[in-house]
Amino acid sequence: MNKKLHPQTQAIRLQTATTNQMEHSTPLFLTSSFVFETADDMRAAFAGETEDNIYSRYTNPTVDEFANKVAAMEKAEAGFAVASGMAAVFSSFMALLKAGDHLLCCRSIFGGTVTVVTKFLDKFGIEYTFVPADDLSVWEKEIKPNTKMVYVETPTNPQLELLDLEEVGKLTKKHNLIYNVDNCFATPVLQTPVDFGADLIIHSATKWMDGQGRVLGGVIVGKKELVHEIYLFCRNSGPTLSPFNAWVLSKSLETLDVRIQRHCESALKVATELEKNDKIAWVKYPFLPSHPQYEIAKKQMKAGGGIVCFELKGGIEAGSKFMDALELLSLTPNLGDSRSIASHPASTTHSKLSDEERSKVGITPGLIRVSVGLEYADDIIDDIKQALEKC
Ligand SMILES: *Cc1c(COP(=O)(O)O)cnc(C)c1O
Repeated sequence: MNKKLHPQTQAIRLQTATTNQMEHSTPLFLTSSFVFETADDMRAAFAGETEDNIYSRYTNPTVDEFANKVAAMEKAEAGFAVASGMAAVFSSFMALLKAGDHLLCCRSIFGGTVTVVTKFLDKFGIEYTFVPADDLSVWEKEIKPNTKMVYVETPTNPQLELLDLEEVGKLTKKHNLIYNVDNCFATPVLQTPVDFGADLIIHSATKWMDGQGRVLGGVIVGKKELVHEIYLFCRNSGPTLSPFNAWVLSKSLETLDVRIQRHCESALKVATELEKNDKIAWVKYPFLPSHPQYEIAKKQMKAGGGIVCFELKGGIEAGSKFMDALELLSLTPNLGDSRSIASHPASTTHSKLSDEERSKVGITPGLIRVSVGLEYADDIIDDIKQALEKC
């Protein structure tokens, strides 16, 4: 029956089999292990002859429910959930790459992922090359005989650059490479990379999926045989998602579609309003016609997402003043929350870099990133406007 239901319905209705308590809302299986009626049942489970749960580092019904929902929403064959977005990224590399393999990686990716690639893959003898998001023509030249995987993210954090998922899909297909997409910013509500040939889709569930800033979580969905390799790596190495977090996340997926719609509506309002403000040099939002890759956004996304970026004319000093003047928006290193959040990378995450180093990674001095929350849109806009008056 699930096959016929729309992904949005599956996000609400896909659920662990009802127990004999006849609960309506999904139960939480907060248990480390599972019991067996007989020694032979236990033997069969360990021998892999049955699919019975054994131990929650391997499988847990609540964790599986969350992973299966994300797989359904992403139109993927299988899924496995882990403790954080970074655990999802790292296990996808560790399970599928070996010494001597080469990874082709888009340069504009999450900072934690850059660190994993540059500091740890090296240690395991895995080679990598970074390629620019804005020039796909370079990518094919960088493919080597030992290239195994292509890793991308779109829209990127915090510059909101877009990558043409279809074009990257053609390249990975032609060269028979594993196509691995971090789809955290768009969520399956706005963009399903499977449509463009992606083999693996990764999420930090900490962000929009939880959507209320409560728990960390991660998930990998995609081709069955690839997800199985990742499962085997995780069941032994242990980046296990807590069943409690999985329960929170699974319930959150029931409202993801409506929440994302509101985030996007409000973000477009914020972006449109800020484009008129004379304290601001430019505003970037995928669904603003002024976005340099507006056409790509329209092709692969249903709406522009909940993140808006803009550049203050006053540079780094104005950035700090703006942050201090905010009354409603939170100053916190997260995004994808029901509460609107502002961040100023030049004075925080990227403060140790020189102006020149920052500009190389696309961080301009007055860049502000706003994660637009679910508050009344005019309240969000008013707070940003009054803060702009003070910088
Ligand atoms: C936050 C984030 C991650 C890492 O996720 P955690 O849950 O914090 O480990 C990975 N990719 C992107 C795009 C992110 O925004």
